[in-house]
Order: sequence, then C-alpha cells, then structure tokens
Amino acid sequence: MSTQKIKVGILGATGSVGQKFIQLLSGHPFFEITEVAASDRSAGKKYKDAVNWFLPTPIPDAIANLTVKNCEPNLECGVVFSGLDANIAGEVEEAFAKSGYHVISNSKNHRFDKDVPLLIPEVNPDHLGLIKVQNFGKGSIVTNPNCSTIGMLIALKPLDDAFGIEQVNVVTMQALSGAGYPGVSSLDIIDNVIPFIGGEENKMETEPLKILGNFNGKEIELSTFKISASCNRVAVVDGHLESVQVKFKNKPTKEEIFSVWKNFKGEPQQYDLPLAPIQPIHYFFEDKYPQPRLHRDIDKGMAVAVGRLRDCNLFDYKFSVLSHNTVRGAAGGAILCAELMKVKGLLS
Ligand code: NAP
Repeated sequence: MSTQKIKVGILGATGSVGQKFIQLLSGHPFFEITEVAASDRSAGKKYKDAVNWFLPTPIPDAIANLTVKNCEPNLECGVVFSGLDANIAGEVEEAFAKSGYHVISNSKNHRFDKDVPLLIPEVNPDHLGLIKVQNFGKGSIVTNPNCSTIGMLIALKPLDDAFGIEQVNVVTMQALSGAGYPGVSSLDIIDNVIPFIGGEENKMETEPLKILGNFNGKEIELSTFKISASCNRVAVVDGHLESVQVKFKNKPTKEEIFSVWKNFKGEPQQYDLPLAPIQPIHYFFEDKYPQPRLHRDIDKGMAVAVGRLRDCNLFDYKFSVLSHNTVRGAAGGAILCAELMKVKGLLS
C-alpha cells in the first residue's frame, strides 16, 4: 500500500508549519514523507535532534530518525510542501520547480506570480488551470493564501457567487502561532493586544482579488471589489477570529445568507478528499460564538466557524468568522491543495 503513495518532502520541516505538515501527513492515504529539509543549522542531524517539537502528539516514528537535508533539489520525492522562511522561500521553491518537483507553498513569495495559482480548493479550483501556463517543465508551483485570507474567503465565496460583493471591511484578532516559533515575546503579548502585523493588511487587501478573480484560460482577471483590513495580534495560541462587514451588489435577506452558507460545498467535498471538511462552513446561532478555543478544531481544523450575522449601519451586514491558522490557514490547506491536484492527475 505504502509503495503506491506519492513521496513527498517537507521544506522548512523544523518550523511551525513544517511540524504541522508532519503531524497531518502521518498515515495520510495519498502521501508519504520521505525527506525533511531545513537550514544549515539543522541539516545533517536526525530530525528528532534538530527540531524543537512543540505539538501535543509525538514526532511520528517514521520521521524521528530521518536525516534533515539542505533545501536543495536533490531530494528523493516528487512533491515538496514548503513551510520555508519567506527570506529564502522564493528562490528555493523556484529551483525545485525547475528541477521537476511539484511545489505547494505556504510562503508569500510566489503568490502574485501571474502563472501561479493562489488556491483555496473549495473557492477557486479552476485556477489550477494556470499550471499549464507555467514554464517549469515537469515541475510546478501552487501557493496557499495567507491564513487570515483563507478563513474570510471561505465565508465570502458563496456570498459573492450568489449576491456579488461590493465592499468588505475586516478586523482580525490573530493567534500567536501565526508568527512562527518562538514568535512574539511573552512580555510583549501578555496583558496586551498588538495592533500591527507586518505585511498582513496588504495581503488581506490584495490576495482576495486574485482568488475571487476570473481565470480566462490564460491568466487571472482580478476581482475589483474594495477591501479594507486591520490586523491585530492577540494572546490566543491557535485560531484567527475576524469581524467582517460586507456590502453586496444585490442585498440578500439573512435567511438567504444562512441558506447559501449551509449549502456551500466545493470540489474537495465532491471528491471526498481525505482532509476535506464534510461541511466547510458551520454557522452558530449563539451570540457568544464562534470562539477560538472552542471552535478552531471543527472537522479536523479544516472547517470555518461563522456567527453573529447581523445588520450593519455602514455596510449591509456584519459577521464573525474563525479558522485554524496553522491547519486550514497553512499546512492543512496546502495538503488539501495537493489532494485536489492528485485526483486531477496534476502530480504525476
Ligand atoms: P518558522 O517556524 O520560523 O520556520 C521556518 C522554517 O524555515 C524552519 O524550518 C527553518 O529551518 C527554515 N529556514 C529558515 N531559514 C532557512 C534557510 N536559510 N534555508 C533553509 N531553511 C531555512 O516559520 P513558520 O511559522 O513555520 O512559517 C513558515 C512560512 O509559512 C513563512 O513563510 C510564513 O509566512 C508562512 N505561513 C505561516 C503560517 C503560520 O500560521 N505560522 C500561516 C501561513 C503561512 P531551521 O529550523 O533549520 O532554522
């Protein structure tokens, strides 16, 4: 059975996202980790000696004694998941793609390349068509959006399809794990909120326009609705909570919105992919929900929790959305991209 699995490598295997990849890929039916790679600081050591493992489940036995390699395109695998530091991710990922590897990346570097899909499998699976436009020979690059963008867009996509979005304002309360490890110092964040996350607002104001854009067979025509984002770091370990205000081209009733969210399903659900949530959007009618500690793990951490839909004095409606930033917003989202690529024959 395991010989039929696709061999994958993890670039940045020792980091926050890298560890999550290793945890989520343990026992995966499609993929088998055969390589782990990181910086010179880790290369040459056994994985268990190189990593500062901080997840609650143990390092999988099959990974603990693997030797960490350098991030050079001579790894024994066909697919690499990248959780690399953005300072080096761009050039490393390109070198792998040019050498024939399929690269699925969490880093920001290639997200706006014209020929690279910025993919949320339930939202814009047709953008995988861009791979045919790429010039990497047998290799390819697909990127996973910013963690806050993913949660918000899973809630907005079915609304955009049904009613047309005109304007969005979003205020985020983002978890500490989004800053990697060790991240923000305890003295900065205890008893505090930091009203700034470098580069985050720009990502949230630009990535949705590509993701909800139209793929015309050659390129993405960017969507044109307006977004304003304000991003805050809060003392939560995992799970980004966002307050979203939205104005529509055709204002629906609340009941119509509930119905659209309830019925929303995408290709991952149609293909019954291993990491696909059964229901991508869970709506909570209790006023005090959603909450990070209670709802970040719904359906393997891959579903988003939505609540508090209400009238807005400035826009049409406002609501809250919560998603797990290192699962749905990073490693889990990237694995779902790879699962979709696998069933579409794009990883051969
Ligand atoms: P992290 O914990 O700091 O891990 C960075 C990884 O990159 C480590 O494995 C590190 O290896 C490796 N690395 C650093 N410099 C390197 C070099 N010069 N050559 C090769 N490898 C190098 O960061 P993270 O939070 O996992 O984030 C990784 C990427 O995912 C970032 O681009 C980030 O923006 C993105 N992302 C993160 C989240 C999140 O929730 N954390 C969500 C979405 C996207 P060593 O251990 O050997 O130094």
